[in-house]
Amino acid sequence: MGKMLMCPCGEQLVGRTDDEFVSAVDAHLQSKHDGRTYPGSMILQMAKPFPDDQIPD
Ligand SMILES: [Zn+2]
Repeated sequence: MGKMLMCPCGEQLVGRTDDEFVSAVDAHLQSKHDGRTYPGSMILQMAKPFPDDQIPD
């Protein structure tokens, strides 16, 4: 099961693994939100489960 987070800006961030998910959120924050960062543990707490087969390649 992957993880998903709907960013307040409207972008849906997903990952197949915790590492991939945290990296995706981090990269999004860096590029779209002035380099903001959150600890990986906090990002994972905000995440919702997301079916693997709906994650785009
Ligand atoms: Zn965003």
